[in-house]
Amino acid sequence: MTEYRKAEEAVKAVSAGVALVAVSKFHPYEAVMEAYAEGARIFGENRVQEMREKFPPKDARPDGMKVFLIGQLQRNKVKKAIEWADRIESVDSIPLLQKIEAECEALDATMEILFEFNSSGEEQKSGFRTGGELLDAARLAISSCPRVSVAGVMTVGPLGYDESANERAFRSTAALFSELRAIIPSASVLSMGMSADWRTAIACGSNEVRIGTAIFGERDYGR
Ligand SMILES: *Cc1c(COP(=O)(O)O)cnc(C)c1O
Repeated sequence: MTEYRKAEEAVKAVSAGVALVAVSKFHPYEAVMEAYAEGARIFGENRVQEMREKFPPKDARPDGMKVFLIGQLQRNKVKKAIEWADRIESVDSIPLLQKIEAECEALDATMEILFEFNSSGEEQKSGFRTGGELLDAARLAISSCPRVSVAGVMTVGPLGYDESANERAFRSTAALFSELRAIIPSASVLSMGMSADWRTAIACGSNEVRIGTAIFGERDYGR
């Protein structure tokens, strides 16, 4: 059994209703296709350019293949992101939300997004700094962003693996997700957990894990 299948079985054994995003950043398309052959359908990339160079356009992909953007998105790359991504999971400010709405209108497109929450409070992390700001963005999305559909919340756990710090971050994100659902009842995705901490994340309510290293191996950042 290969790595994608192992990861999928491990996740399903913990909870059947959890989606698995195979994070393929820094790995070539051949690795993507190997995982696809094992059943992977949703892939995660954190840079727009890498996503566009690696994956075919939306209408030319193998059956069912989707790509989610999970990394920080600069406003000048929003158009390019909308053209390639099936979902943007890293919306971290109101200006970015508004830019996505404007570019969707220009392209006559729609986009599914997650709001990213900085649940660890770490300075170098992206994401809304407070739950209040994230909920303000949700209200704005409802009132004035008809082309954007807010599917839920995403977070990256604290740096390093400290189970109790992870748990705190994930629990606060899960609480925020409930508040989001009071504003947007159709929001259904709580995306938390990576290779090192996905079990903790699922225990805290995650229904989408984003796993890279455990599927594709270590990334070669020098490449
Ligand atoms: C790289 C990345 C992941 C996957 O991390 P692994 O530790 O390799 O599983 C998940 N989410 C985001 C936002 C990432 O940038």
